[in-house]
Amino acid sequence: MNLTRRDFTRLGALGLAARFAHGLNAQTTAPKTRYAVIGLGRIASHFLPAAGSTTNSQITGLVSGHRDKADRIAAQYNVPAGSIYNYENFDEIAKNPNIDAVYVALPNSMHAEYTIRAAKAGKHVLCEKPMSTTVAEAKAMIAACKAANVKLMIAYRCHYEPTNLRAVKLIRDGALGQVQAIESSFGFNIKAGEWRINKKLAGGGPLYDVGIYSLNACRYLTGEEPAQIAAFASTIDHDGRFDEVEENVSWTMKFPSGIVASCATTYGANMAGYYKVYGSKGWLQVDQAFVYEGLRLRAEYQGTKLDELNPARDPSHFVAEAEHFSHCVQNGLEPQSPGEEGLRDMGYITEIYKSAGIKI
Ligand code: NAD
Repeated sequence: MNLTRRDFTRLGALGLAARFAHGLNAQTTAPKTRYAVIGLGRIASHFLPAAGSTTNSQITGLVSGHRDKADRIAAQYNVPAGSIYNYENFDEIAKNPNIDAVYVALPNSMHAEYTIRAAKAGKHVLCEKPMSTTVAEAKAMIAACKAANVKLMIAYRCHYEPTNLRAVKLIRDGALGQVQAIESSFGFNIKAGEWRINKKLAGGGPLYDVGIYSLNACRYLTGEEPAQIAAFASTIDHDGRFDEVEENVSWTMKFPSGIVASCATTYGANMAGYYKVYGSKGWLQVDQAFVYEGLRLRAEYQGTKLDELNPARDPSHFVAEAEHFSHCVQNGLEPQSPGEEGLRDMGYITEIYKSAGIKI
């Protein structure tokens, strides 16, 4: 890849530079980083098999409130009974020499508590997005990991995913000329009863859960941080699902270069995650940009026409993510999506809600 020094500086601001330099999936012969997975729900069911497909990661512990479920999964991954914890005895993990790191796959409001407890137990932390429910929590998580001298990475899958990285590179290489505008959206029609619509557990509505992908994408696509934000929120369906969190959020961001981005998220309609980037010399669009497979990049610029369907299947995103974090743990490197990256998004989420007149 031919990155200029300026490209590299801009990628560096997003923590992407070293990834371009070292390759996406760092190969290593170092011993495996041994993970305990905290919360055995949907996302954990992608991470568990992915870790086993890496060159450098392994599942050696489980943390769950449901012992029967944990026992079943432990049998699948050869996790010994002595390395299964519940939420009450979790801190005993400090005494377990066979666990190096944890993967926090709990509802949003529990990320801060378990990241901080894991750090105090001397374990490295790979924490799901959104990092937390408030800026204050995100800062406390970073401080706890620094104090314990453990690594903290936020599981921004798309930072390690080839189609998204290809879009970033095309933009950095100037294929589209000067980027002028970005459109992005991601949402789904949520079922009643989900913790995602319980404000105490989720922090807020679809922006925390799926809108964050569009927010983060606009930042990695531009390589800039938003300078101005304006937002609206609404609830249309008064069917009991949105008594605590809003149904829709749309927001616009102006970046220092003048690039404008317009984004939307919802819990009231199925909205396949995508982005489209318009530049002075062409455009690119990634469909299914934020889901686990079927990512499709189309572009037209300067006489070139692209239509690329990424053949990678789930859980390849999680393999790349786990390999990167394990590589960082084993080699004392800073992850490419550290706590500070999650903290930045928490700051912008706070600004979006403030602009939309919603108290979080
Ligand atoms: P889930 O509901 O499927 O799983 C959550 C797990 O937490 C369950 O095992 C549940 O038993 C456990 N839990 C412990 N205490 C709980 C409580 N008080 N209430 C509810 N559950 C409790 O959720 P999920 O979809 O796996 O999401 C978990 C985290 O992963 C969220 O922060 C979410 O934003 C994130 N996530 C990330 C991605 C991604 O692609 N990176 C995708 C989906 C979810």
